[in-house]
This record gives sequence, C-alpha cells and structure tokens, in this order.
Amino acid sequence: MRPAWLCRNCAAAWPCPPAQLHLATEFYGHSIALAFYLAANMQDAVDDLYALGLDPDLRALHARFLGWLSLSRRPNRADLEG
Ligand SMILES: [Zn+2]
Repeated sequence: MRPAWLCRNCAAAWPCPPAQLHLATEFYGHSIALAFYLAANMQDAVDDLYALGLDPDLRALHARFLGWLSLSRRPNRADLEG
C-alpha cells in the first residue's frame, strides 16, 4: 500500500516475509529480474517518503527491500573453493 509501503494483507512493512516468499516464487529462476523489481520499488518508496516530507533511512530501506534477497542468493562456498 503506497505511500506508506505497508503490506495489503498483514499491514507489516513491505516486503513482509509472506510477500518475500511470494516474490521469490513468482521470480523463481529470475533473480536478476527480481533484484531490479525490488530496486525499482525501493526507489519509488524513497520518492514517496520524500514526498511525505520524511527523511528516509536509505541504508535501512536497502536492507528492507534488497537485504533479504542476498540471503537466498549467497554463493555456495563449495562451488567457489572447487
Ligand atoms: Zn504481509
């Protein structure tokens, strides 16, 4: 829900865990597209927060929108070490 960026279903800060699961399923196999989608949404959220006269914490927003993604995309150490 814009401009507060809360989940329509549970009113938690979006993307909430269920929304993350939904996105991961919807973009399965397209992690780059998902990253672009989330980055675009984060940019919209930043714009909305500035429009509301707020001073968004960009580091926190980045962690919220994109931070959870890195967990599922963490490289497999065994692959790197060969
Ligand atoms: Zn939710």
